[in-house]
Amino acid sequence: MATAVITGSARGIGAAIAERLAKDGYNIALNDISQSCFDNNDISDRIKALGVECEIFAADVSKHDQCEDMVKKIKARFGTIDVLVNNAGITRDGLLARMSEENYDLVISVNQKSVFNMTKFTGSVMMKQRSGRIINLSSVAGVYGNAGQMNYSASKAAIIGMTKTTAKELGSRGITCNAVAPGFIDTPMTAQLSDEMKAAILGQIALKRYGQVEEIAGVVSFLASPDASYVTGQVIEISGGLSM
Ligand code: NAD
Repeated sequence: MATAVITGSARGIGAAIAERLAKDGYNIALNDISQSCFDNNDISDRIKALGVECEIFAADVSKHDQCEDMVKKIKARFGTIDVLVNNAGITRDGLLARMSEENYDLVISVNQKSVFNMTKFTGSVMMKQRSGRIINLSSVAGVYGNAGQMNYSASKAAIIGMTKTTAKELGSRGITCNAVAPGFIDTPMTAQLSDEMKAAILGQIALKRYGQVEEIAGVVSFLASPDASYVTGQVIEISGGLSM
């Protein structure tokens, strides 16, 4: 049975992607920064109830050596790695003049370096298999920019370049790499925003509602499916028409 690895999958979009790919028949390697992220959380049980295998691999994906070790463990446990979803991400928003160097570096390392780390080690497994699907979580902030998100938009724009580079570098081995760029999705990440900010964003969304995690998971499922076999190096916006 094929295996999918989803980083940052204890909650939010990552958990929804893991559940959807389990419904699609993949064995699931869940990841988050620590085992405790899965305490009081039934994602692993919900996935196992779908009749596939599921295991948690705690690792900080911003750390090169932890990713190398985790990918080795996933390969040993499941035999193959067929889909990688680089989903883990954080925000540390603030206006440029007040943004600390620490918060700039942290967001770049969690959101952007993690994609280098995981794509390098998983890509090497996929190259030997001569097949694989890599799906990266970018953001509309990476395409259009967003005031207060210099660090975040930099990391998400970089992911677009990394997606296209991966598609070009690994394409000859039967590996596709695409990105999704969500707009405003209802998750713990966006719950942190002020009511004023949420109302302002809602006014700009053509569909006049926020997105749901399942609406991201559905597009990721498509990109992992045989129907997307000739799609690579693309960025698909999932924003309800927030940005046009
Ligand atoms: P979330 O905060 O709900 O979940 C992110 C998960 O990543 C958490 O479980 C967190 O513990 C994990 N994580 C953080 N740092 C990690 C690390 N170093 N190693 C491993 N795991 C780590 O966020 P979400 O809203 O579900 O976002 C998921 C992805 O989608 C992110 O990359 C985010 O930037 C992107 N995105 C979200 C939105 C949105 O509106 N929610 C919009 C655009 C893009």
